[in-house]
Order: sequence, then structure tokens, then C-alpha cells
Amino acid sequence: MSSRLAALSIATAAVLTLSLAGCSAPLSEKWVRYSFAPGPEESGEATATPPSEDQGAKPAAERTPPNCSKVKCVALTFDDGPGSYTTELLSLLDQYDAKATFFLIGGNVKKHPQIVRDEVAKGHEIGNHTWAHKDLTKMSVAAAKRDLQKTDDAVKQAAGVEPTLVRPPFGSLPRSLKKNLAVPIALWDVDTLDWKTRNTKSTIKAAEKIVPGSIVLMHDIHKSTVDAMPTILKDLDAKGYHFVTVTELIGHPKPGIGYGSGQHPGSKD
Ligand SMILES: [Zn+2]
Repeated sequence: MSSRLAALSIATAAVLTLSLAGCSAPLSEKWVRYSFAPGPEESGEATATPPSEDQGAKPAAERTPPNCSKVKCVALTFDDGPGSYTTELLSLLDQYDAKATFFLIGGNVKKHPQIVRDEVAKGHEIGNHTWAHKDLTKMSVAAAKRDLQKTDDAVKQAAGVEPTLVRPPFGSLPRSLKKNLAVPIALWDVDTLDWKTRNTKSTIKAAEKIVPGSIVLMHDIHKSTVDAMPTILKDLDAKGYHFVTVTELIGHPKPGIGYGSGQHPGSKD
């Protein structure tokens, strides 16, 4: 395993606090199902109605992802959506056959279920970013569990899939939650600070820090970010990058482990 792979292990950290990026994700349904006996506190949280048959997401076409230990890959990640600019972003990604990872807010999933279905249908990866972007370290374990489960339920009811990753808001995750995770924790090595600058040129400039194996933190709820994507995609494509999901970039991420980057040419499979 290369030094860049599985760069961040939070096994011993009481609290994971990576940055002030304002991003994070919750846990998947597996987390609760595998690690906790469902009890009254988990019941009654699912309020969304199942999608009708003609609204259900179709499985993404099977594809063979590139071998990121042989070619240059990057995982573009977008937090806090879906939102008003996500559909435009999906079209831009399609132009490069780019796959991305979306860390969704449960409340926004409820508002935009069709966009979640579109993300899934186009082969993008879905991660849990909590219901309302609250700091998981500032709530009880039981409340955090409910929050994450509620978000997982919303994603499943909207698009028929479970989030495969978590990204806790603010990168903050209590150890008591982390040890129960049944999914990997997706962090990042390139923070565009797009949420802070809200500036297209600044976001493009920040993306110049991308190297093979990077996981890039962005937010599709900001127009300035989506406006930066044509240039970012064009520049990276010209450099020979393949746009992959976080799971594809890492290879076989392990539950409960935090990953800040993935494979790059020269790293071992
Ligand atoms: Zn966020």
C-alpha cells in the first residue's frame, strides 16, 4: 500500500477534525444494521415515500473503471447537495464521461429526489453527509445514529441505493461512531475552499493542486463552483486524468477507515 493510499487513519483519534470546510457525511444503513440492533429510536424515522415504478432509478450501466494504479485518476467530490445547479453539473460531467461522488444532505434529498435518481442513473457514487449538516461531535450517539439513518433512508427511498461512503460535516466524527461504521470514511487532500471564496477563478486556481490520486472537495450548491467545472474538467482531461468515484480511486476501501486520497500510477493494487 502506498503512502498516499489510506493516508488518513483515524483509528486512534477521539475526534476527527480535518478542516473547516463545512463538509461531512453520515453513515449508511449498513452501519446501523450491522452494528446496532434496531430499536425504537431507529423506528419511525423514515418519512419519505417510495418512488413510483416509473420514477425509480435505473442501475448504472456496467463499466470497467480505469486501473488507477496504472493511469492518472482523480475523484471529484461534491458536498451538500443536491441543489439548484446539480443538474447542470451532471451535464458537464457527461461531456467527459466523468464519474463523481456526491455527499448528500438528507433534507436536500427530500427536496430533489429526481436529481438523486439522475446521479445514480449516470453512474455517480452517493455518500451520506448527514441530514442537516450538523456537527456529529456535538450530538448524542443516539441522535447521530438517527440522523445518519434518516439520511440513508431518504437516499434509498429516492433512488433505490444506499450510500456507500460517509463524509462527516466539518470532517468531525466521534470515535464512538467511527468504530461502528460499516462503510469507509471519505476525506480529501485538495480543498478548493469553494464554499468560502464563492469565486469561479479561485476555485479553478485551487484545482491546480490536484495530483494523481487526489480526492477533491467541492460543493455543487454554489453556482461559482459549477461555473468553474468546464475549465477544471477540460484542464484535467488535457493532462490525461480519468474521472472516477472515490471507491474506484481507492480500490477496496475498508469500513471505518478514513481516506484522504487514493491510488496513483506506481502504487500497488
Ligand atoms: Zn458539507
